[in-house]
Amino acid sequence: MTPLTEPEIRAAFVNCTKGEAKRLHVPRDLGDRPWADLDYLGWRDPQAPDRAYLVAAPQGRPVALALRRPSPGPGRRRRTMCSVCLTNPAGGVSLMVARKAGKAGQQGDSVGIYLCDDLACSLYLRGRKDAGPGARLPESLTLEEKIDRTLSHLTAFITRVTT
Ligand SMILES: [Zn+2]
Repeated sequence: MTPLTEPEIRAAFVNCTKGEAKRLHVPRDLGDRPWADLDYLGWRDPQAPDRAYLVAAPQGRPVALALRRPSPGPGRRRRTMCSVCLTNPAGGVSLMVARKAGKAGQQGDSVGIYLCDDLACSLYLRGRKDAGPGARLPESLTLEEKIDRTLSHLTAFITRVTT
């Protein structure tokens, strides 16, 4: 994706208030991120481990989402497949919950998705980060096709949040 600046990312949030978008944690090292290999940029708030964020550009325009990771109770952490990149990474997969945009979100509506806990789907797909043994099923798809599929899963989730 095209590199984004901090103001562009803050302005792209669709499911939190303007005040929240202004205050939330955005990584300082945006210039060092491997943008060309990213289908989306995902990050966590180091001060608040239950908060995660992602920004993608489904139609060429950045859309950013604020996510919550409801903490799993003891013994309930189980490995599941990431529903975006279909990886089962050694670092685990977490249920991430996004408040819906607009009125529905104000009334408490939210949607959830299972995502790689470290939000590194793009790097796993491209083999830039090792997901661990057996994390990905052998597939006959090309990398391009896997990227297309990942983007369509991500876009479908963004649509669920915004409509
Ligand atoms: Zn993933």
